Amino acid sequence: MQDKPVALVTGANKGIGLQIAKDLAAHGFTVLVGSRNLEHGETAAKSVGAGARALQLDVTNQASISAAAERVRSEPGRLDVLVNNAGISHASGSFEEAVKSNRLSVASLDEVRAVFETNVFGVIAVTQAMLPLLREAPAGRIVNVSSSSGSLTMNSDPTNPHRAMFGTYSSSKTALNAITLAFALELESTRIKVNAACPGFTATDLNNFRGTRTVEQAAREPVRLALLDAKGPTGTFSNEDGARPW
Ligand code: NAP
Repeated sequence: MQDKPVALVTGANKGIGLQIAKDLAAHGFTVLVGSRNLEHGETAAKSVGAGARALQLDVTNQASISAAAERVRSEPGRLDVLVNNAGISHASGSFEEAVKSNRLSVASLDEVRAVFETNVFGVIAVTQAMLPLLREAPAGRIVNVSSSSGSLTMNSDPTNPHRAMFGTYSSSKTALNAITLAFALELESTRIKVNAACPGFTATDLNNFRGTRTVEQAAREPVRLALLDAKGPTGTFSNEDGARPW
């Protein structure tokens, strides 16, 4: 087992995940660049820097998840940080079409299931598979990349202009916030801290690069939560400006 701490970022072949991987490498982690397409992961790992390596990981495929956990167990043999970053805004059609069909009254159930499969069940499955390694780490950290669009408090406010968009994607992030809290409570007596971060509206493939923030800005809060010391909180939801309402 190596001395250097190890971080796994899911969906790290591009976008916010790739930037999180770069930042964690700069903080001294050996970074495992999770990617469902191994070639894309290998290309990304080269840009992350020395020591980074690709890990084939499709968060919707249990065989892929189990194989990834076994590979981490054998080499590098430890896992200190898990960033559940992989996510999708929609499963089929263009982003523009998805915006229109995002409302649950019109969304196809297949579409809703596919989004939840990645954004919610994928996180549970990967976390379960990696937990034995994280429990052994001196300071295990789990960061779930969520979104303020999933905030029930904010969407309950009639003056919130974004609440018209509350639908498939955002409710998957509500569920992600709930499972963040569930894992945090379950692991409260351990050294593992579990928190959710909102990266903000960021220019990536997820939204056809309509976002207004850069990936460098977006990565800051997830990375801060990955680096929390022993006094740091668990079971929180925050962005760069501080706590977000659940
Ligand atoms: P992105 O550029 O589209 O990146 C998404 C990443 O997730 C890609 O690497 C993608 O891999 C991966 N992914 C999707 N399905 C996967 C699966 N089944 N298994 C493994 N990897 C999978 O989007 P992003 O904006 O960086 O999104 C990263 C996270 O930030 C997501 O959880 C998203 O919900 C969250 N977020 C984004 C924004 C925003 O404005 N961009 C705002 C709030 C929250 P492929 O390349 O193979 O598709």
